[in-house]
Amino acid sequence: MKNPVLHIVVPCYNEQDVLPLTHNRLVALLHSLAEARLVSEDSRVTYVDDGSTDSTWDILAGYAEQSHGCALRLSTNVGQQNALLAGLEAVVDRADVIVTMDADLQDDIEVIRQMVERYRQGCDIVYGVRRHRRSDTWFKRTTALAFYRLMRHLGVSSVYNHADFRLMSRRAVKALLCYRERNLFLRGVVTLVGFKTDRVYYDRAERAAGHSKYPLHRMVGMAVDGITSFSIRPVRMVLTLGVVFMFIALAMLAYVLIAYFTGRAVSGWASIVLSLWFIGGCILVGLGVVGEYIGKIYIEVKDRPRYHVEQIIIK
Ligand code: UDP
Ligand code: MG
Repeated sequence: MKNPVLHIVVPCYNEQDVLPLTHNRLVALLHSLAEARLVSEDSRVTYVDDGSTDSTWDILAGYAEQSHGCALRLSTNVGQQNALLAGLEAVVDRADVIVTMDADLQDDIEVIRQMVERYRQGCDIVYGVRRHRRSDTWFKRTTALAFYRLMRHLGVSSVYNHADFRLMSRRAVKALLCYRERNLFLRGVVTLVGFKTDRVYYDRAERAAGHSKYPLHRMVGMAVDGITSFSIRPVRMVLTLGVVFMFIALAMLAYVLIAYFTGRAVSGWASIVLSLWFIGGCILVGLGVVGEYIGKIYIEVKDRPRYHVEQIIIK
């Protein structure tokens, strides 16, 4: 087997603090992989600047001028998923195999060696899976766990405790790029691609420098996107809830009639007001869920481009 050309695609959004560290470690890793004849000398780290407002791009452009680096600059911030996609699309034709990872070194880059070994044994997709989440806050850990459980419950197949740290062969990336949806949730789509897959396990570290780009509202947004892009079960649940409510209403009607004719009707506004609020709330939630899907359709039919490349330095 010819030594494969490996590209490590790293989305970066305001990562100036951590980039020097990341770059040094990744370049050292590529050197040692090339020395071990696991990958080709032409292997590269490809950075995607996702519309950063700090000096991230200047740093990246500097790396791209030296060896081992390529840099892609998007015209504005489009989010990590689309940035990843931009990186994949840019390098798919020059790489035999692509690893995607975050810039903050939370994923253990040493397992990239194992990933490449699995690839050489014939795997097309190798998932990096966290062994534990001790480095995350209690809140992030619990919400993430709840999210994975919910996803599984809703029939979305996703790899438990796997984020966007994975290896993909060129043909797997090509297959992935055929999914043209705007509402992109990569880790869900990847499981649809198929091919021979495997997992490698690692311990997730603290962020090496800088701070998280995922505040709570972005995490919630991503979770809602993940679910509503893959499952129509929430809409079905709304329907079921509606039917259940109709039966409850019928039972209530019977009770009211009996109470009226037996002369036990009381002027209880409390129960009426209470059920008014409750049912009103349920209707609003139902409308919201349906609206979420209609919003998705609206975005898909517009078929807007997912990103624009402003500058690209690939050697
Ligand atoms: N990121 C990005 N665009 C964004 C937000 C984040 O490209 O709009 C990148 C970020 O630079 C990092 C990766 O996505 O490389 C993961 O972000 P982060 O580490 O902040 O997320 P967390 O690990 O806290 O979930
Ligand atoms: Mg992180």
